[in-house]
Amino acid sequence: MDDRHPGTAHDTIVKSRNPHGPKPNLPDYEAAVRTFSWEAARQEELDGLPGGRGLNIAHEAVDRHAAGPRRDRVAIRWLGKAGDVRELTYADLAALSSRVAHALSDLGLAPGDRLFVLTGRIPELYAVVLGALKAKLVVSPLFAAFGPEPVATRMKLGRARALLTTPRLYQRRVLPIRDSLPDLQHVFVTGTGSADPPEGTLALEALVEGAPPDFTIPDTDPEDPALLHFTSGTTGTPKGALHVHQAVLAHHVTGKHALDFHAGDRFWCTADPGWVTGTSYGIISPLTNGVTSIVDEAEFDVERWYRILERERVAVWYTAPTAVRMLMKAGAEVAKRYDLSALRFIASVGEPLNPEAVLWGRNALGLPIHDNWWQTETGGIMIANYRAMDVRPGSMGRPLPGVEAAIVRRRQGEDAASEASTPVELADPGEEGELALRAGWPSMFRSYIDNEERYRRCFADGWYLTGDLARQDDDGYFWFVGRADDVIKSAGHLIGPFEVESALVEHPAVAEAAVIGKPDPTVGEIVKAFVSLREGCEATEDLKLELTGHARRRLGPAVAPREIDFLDDLPKTRSGKVMRRLLKARELGLPEGDTSTLERPASPGTEE
Ligand code: ATP
Ligand code: MG
Repeated sequence: MDDRHPGTAHDTIVKSRNPHGPKPNLPDYEAAVRTFSWEAARQEELDGLPGGRGLNIAHEAVDRHAAGPRRDRVAIRWLGKAGDVRELTYADLAALSSRVAHALSDLGLAPGDRLFVLTGRIPELYAVVLGALKAKLVVSPLFAAFGPEPVATRMKLGRARALLTTPRLYQRRVLPIRDSLPDLQHVFVTGTGSADPPEGTLALEALVEGAPPDFTIPDTDPEDPALLHFTSGTTGTPKGALHVHQAVLAHHVTGKHALDFHAGDRFWCTADPGWVTGTSYGIISPLTNGVTSIVDEAEFDVERWYRILERERVAVWYTAPTAVRMLMKAGAEVAKRYDLSALRFIASVGEPLNPEAVLWGRNALGLPIHDNWWQTETGGIMIANYRAMDVRPGSMGRPLPGVEAAIVRRRQGEDAASEASTPVELADPGEEGELALRAGWPSMFRSYIDNEERYRRCFADGWYLTGDLARQDDDGYFWFVGRADDVIKSAGHLIGPFEVESALVEHPAVAEAAVIGKPDPTVGEIVKAFVSLREGCEATEDLKLELTGHARRRLGPAVAPREIDFLDDLPKTRSGKVMRRLLKARELGLPEGDTSTLERPASPGTEE
């Protein structure tokens, strides 16, 4: 297998260096790995609640800055859909979130109660999330484009006591399901203006108006629950992963090391807070690091995004492969029309980043794109390409200092029964296997809501098993192979879809590719590819032949797709991940399963 693993085809090394800007936070990776300890980082980087009363996310994110020289720095710079702009300084955000904390507590909401948020990206979301964390509620932000069913499922599972939404979303998404939510006591709406709030709801603005702008955060144990995030539903029904207050240590340190945050930076995380990226790195990490976050209310649009990068002088940009591919689809010429000179660092997460995209970044945006890997369950970035390190296109990078990652084999069958104490063992160097993380980093999830059994199955021998397959090269870089569920078994080979997809997108006609295993009586599974084309390319039989030839040359006949279909768009989750399981179900005429997070092509971006 080694002669065709990802990486050999692209053994290019791209200089990550950008001469502009401050010194990288992680100048010597090896030294940091040797000396890093979470305990020391907690002492040095975080304050803790005054009087040694514990550790609370909201204190680290806003209150401690509001009490010092950063108080007048802009924390959130919000760009409205209609062109309006609102700014909240650290002092504003601290005061507003304190008012919210008072209001929530006065209504009888108690530590541990769950507050859901369904608003879209508006400034109130940030204040309410932080206010609820101050009052020690458990916060679960939902993606505003969810219909009533996915909202109901998540709120039921999470036993929501309270909800923040808008009058419009309340009427459309919540009212139809409210009767099915017996635990839901309070619904707050924001943005009613002078109108009355809908019946059965309370206006947030009226509640906070008279509340005092300072709030004493109660004692907070680092293990107190803080955030409930649902996974993307790429492989099945979304799971609710619970995180605790001390996750803030990982949010903070990973932002510093993997995203190279420097206080005062202008940072744009394009993810919605309804996904874990949009909370860990769209709310918490930039705030704990004293960074100014740009928040864009609108959905993806090529010109709008380049305009934001240019006008807002974004220095650090965190986005996703699907967005990068859309920018690539529009062409490098578009990028060249904008002044992107303020950019110092670009990172991506959520899916494998094709080597082609890394190189495109360097050519079109002036910087390579730094891939990093993590999951809802890990709460923060675990493996990354760092600013001071050369990028190996196609690799996820190396584990964060403080994170131990390894490739393991699960022992199966009788073997496992007889050696119950060692259900996993380390893979050989270079071997493909399951990516595992040594359990115990601060932002590790503490349970799957209502599914303890599944949670327990994720752990073995002190390792958390991620469900992703990868391999590690001799220099310690990790290479993503595919999700365990998506890996194709063909004629005795294990084929990772990522490798095949990356080869296909190298072809100039291909915008996106997704690969599945299709059952076959002779070889087990054949490789089948679904391909969407770039603007101006025609879906012809000749092109199919050409793509097959290209893939064979790149991958060899055993790995190249045997069948190729053209699709206008690939099915994706609303967070932009290709849903291979759906392509497979459709191909085989099987039930589609949970599609609550499927992006509906008819309404991208305008789902309200
Ligand atoms: P579900 O668990 O419900 O199927 P999901 O796994 O897509 O959904 P998330 O937690 O949002 O939900 O996504 C984490 C997964 O995304 C990882 O396990 C991995 O498969 C994929 N992923 C994230 N970043 C990368 C990356 N840089 N390279 C490759 N895959 C990535
Ligand atoms: Mg997952």
